[in-house]
Amino acid sequence: MRFNFFLSFIFTVSFTSFAQERCSTIEHIEILNHKHPQYKQQREKVNFESKNWIENHYISNSKSIITIPVVVHVVWNTSAENITDQQVISQIDVLNADFRRTNIDAIMTPNVWQGIVADTEIDFCLATVDPNGAPTTGITRTQTSQTSFSIQTDNMKSNASGGIDSWDKDKYLNIWVCDLSGGILGYATPPSSFNNPDDGVVIGYRYFGTTGSVQAPYNKGRTCTHEVGHWLNLDHLWGNGGNCGNDNVNDTPTQEEENYNCPAFPHNANSCGTSNSSGDMFMNYMDYTNDGCMNLFTQGQKARMISAINLYRSDFLSHNLCNNITSFNELPTNSRKLIKVIDILGRENSSNSQAIYLYIYDDNTVEKKIILK
Ligand SMILES: [Zn+2]
Repeated sequence: MRFNFFLSFIFTVSFTSFAQERCSTIEHIEILNHKHPQYKQQREKVNFESKNWIENHYISNSKSIITIPVVVHVVWNTSAENITDQQVISQIDVLNADFRRTNIDAIMTPNVWQGIVADTEIDFCLATVDPNGAPTTGITRTQTSQTSFSIQTDNMKSNASGGIDSWDKDKYLNIWVCDLSGGILGYATPPSSFNNPDDGVVIGYRYFGTTGSVQAPYNKGRTCTHEVGHWLNLDHLWGNGGNCGNDNVNDTPTQEEENYNCPAFPHNANSCGTSNSSGDMFMNYMDYTNDGCMNLFTQGQKARMISAINLYRSDFLSHNLCNNITSFNELPTNSRKLIKVIDILGRENSSNSQAIYLYIYDDNTVEKKIILK
């Protein structure tokens, strides 16, 4: 018995040492609740306020794009942590593809959910104007003596503690990229009416973008897509409180718990006492699966994110921080919609992950795309 106990102790210690935490936003909310009691107080109102706003104000297909100016703060100790501009840009490209549903792996969404997937009509730019009105690349670089940063102290967010102060959090999405301790991939600050001085997203430098220092299986930029989802008020699919919980979105199936790796579809059919034969929506960006397994937000999630911007982040609705062009661009009325994706033999359900696909739009245009998985 003693021998077994010793073995299990060793296993536990080594597992803890090397485990990766897919997302630590729930832990971060607990920390914020203690640090700022008003944050907790205001967060308790968010579900009611969001539901109310959606019922009274939401237009599901506004044909307007909300562009969010981003500043990426690279806080580095080793040269590997000083990620390249190219790596930063690769992450902005992923955010734009995922939120506008131009991600090339959209084809992998099971047919049963193709009808509820969303172009969220939100996109992102690296800010071109800094808080003083000067031109900027939207990337800051800070050399630090800190060898890593912890979620408990949030030190990357302050000049005084080896990081860098945020840019005006009402006007910019601040993303800090650094070496996060504890195997954490990333975390975010969900919104509320509280003016949160810690607002923003933090991502480990190995999980940001699609090139440079990124490490598989978190090398397709989906950690940041997930965390920006939280920053815009999305919950995990299984709810934030426990198993089979509520994510406050109607069109995502009830889910027992998080999924890892990349399950085969359907997975966990009829779980949580439901008659849902399609099982978990494990390819939703708000699950914990590998980056290469994720490919969708739903219409319900879109509504919640648009409501979060209107209620709590409304400065993003109109600004001049991206190329000096106002963000609220009217799309042409003939903005096309994706109708169907087929392979070159005309099949809609091709399982071939490396092939040429034809994307057919409602304005009779067709694009050829090559999927490489
Ligand atoms: Zn999360």
